[in-house]
Amino acid sequence: MQVSDVISLGRVKADFAMPFNHRVVGQHYLVTNDLGDHLFLTPDELRRLSEGATVPGDGLYERLTAANLIAAKVDVKAQADRWKRKHQYLFYGPTLHAFVLTHRCNHGCQYCHSSIVGMDRTDTDMSIETAERAVDLVFQTTSPGVNIEFQGGEPLANWDVLQHIVEYARQKNALAGKTLSFSLVTNLSLMDDDKLDYLIDRKVQLCTSLDGPEDLHNKIRIYKDGNAHASVVGWMKKINQRYKDMGLDPNLYRVEALPTITKPGLTRWKDIVDQYVEVGCKAIFLRKLDPFGFASRSYKTLGYSMDEFLEFYANAAEYILELNKNGVQVMERHAALMLAKILTDQEPNYLDLRSPGGACVGQIGYAPDGSIYSSDEGRFVASMGDEMFKIGTVNDTYHHLMTNAQTRAMVMAGLNDGQPDCVNCVYKPWCGQQVEYNYKTQGSLQGRMRDSVWCKKHKRVFDWLMARVERADPEEMKIFERWTSTRVLDHYLQDRSALGDNAE
Ligand code: SF4
Repeated sequence: MQVSDVISLGRVKADFAMPFNHRVVGQHYLVTNDLGDHLFLTPDELRRLSEGATVPGDGLYERLTAANLIAAKVDVKAQADRWKRKHQYLFYGPTLHAFVLTHRCNHGCQYCHSSIVGMDRTDTDMSIETAERAVDLVFQTTSPGVNIEFQGGEPLANWDVLQHIVEYARQKNALAGKTLSFSLVTNLSLMDDDKLDYLIDRKVQLCTSLDGPEDLHNKIRIYKDGNAHASVVGWMKKINQRYKDMGLDPNLYRVEALPTITKPGLTRWKDIVDQYVEVGCKAIFLRKLDPFGFASRSYKTLGYSMDEFLEFYANAAEYILELNKNGVQVMERHAALMLAKILTDQEPNYLDLRSPGGACVGQIGYAPDGSIYSSDEGRFVASMGDEMFKIGTVNDTYHHLMTNAQTRAMVMAGLNDGQPDCVNCVYKPWCGQQVEYNYKTQGSLQGRMRDSVWCKKHKRVFDWLMARVERADPEEMKIFERWTSTRVLDHYLQDRSALGDNAE
């Protein structure tokens, strides 16, 4: 279907429609505006929109009005307020603060992004002094909400500093009064009952990696001191039971796990999904292998083309949908984030799907030596010997970090409206940029979307999703709508008014 077969330039009524983009999806043209409204139109309906050939009472007029596609019918004040609500993240600084507590790790995962070292290299641990300076900076963010995420290496290897950061941040928050939460990304192999008691008591959210069934997980996530799969699954079940025993809703409170999809997993989409369901997960985030760090060096054995990934994705997502129809409530996280933007007025603030992208203004990453990077990915690039994304150190001021030339360049390059291809793309209101990915894969912050695998992935996943939405029956629509319903996990929020237990 060529748009030139539908729209005749000489007949376009330029002031009738709001600015819109379009793309063929299934049997229809998908049309979106900058507010994120969408509509599926037949070719004839698209022609009538472009020519202003529709009048009140003909049905199309009412649908176009509801989707804010008729310029004269748009309530500008109400829509400006709506746009502002959906872009709240533009009004404050970074929310996500990723602390790399150490480069040490006891796993040798074949795709590992980080510059990991052996467990004896305690010299790569973050010190208490650096940790305190980093926390001081965290509390200078203008964001009302702050999540401190512990990463590594294996962050549990630097346990004393992890505990110190939790206590120090809680004390600081007694004055700052921010919405403070902590999360820990761990392989769980160094977990023990005492650590778990502390983490549960301090409401630290736990996230781990699970690549699928035992043979697949252990093949990739190499752990010479034991069975990596048995360890992670055992702890996940134990922790989920603890939440249950505390009376927390098991649909909301459980260990979050993420798979990284490698070549051996491409044909195992059913096994991977089944493993997540078996261990009690309610969400699966099907992630493609990133081009950062060690992963790029092992790309030959683990890597695959974007087309192969997208085939895997569609198979897995269809299977997840089928499970839901059979009463198993599990969602694909990437689809759920997209659907929240498409079907509701929510902005999940997922940093890869916003404009500008998350670099510097959505998240910052703190390395053990006190270096500060645009993001986790920025630090991965640094671990490959390129300090492009270093925006300062813990000795700098917050003002300097947020306003220096690198930060400004990354924000500018991370805008969809600054990308020649994105400005004409039907998915622009829901999509986003990652400047680190552009730089790593295409050599510049800006990149070139028509040749970009980032763009290809987003476009094709949006295509799959919108084609499913276009032909969804009521049961499927209900499932998609359920995936978009978000509830605040307030159990994980720290008490904003009281001093931490250890505070003087
Ligand atoms: S990155 Fe690609 S899919 Fe996303 S808005 Fe830009 S052109 Fe569209």
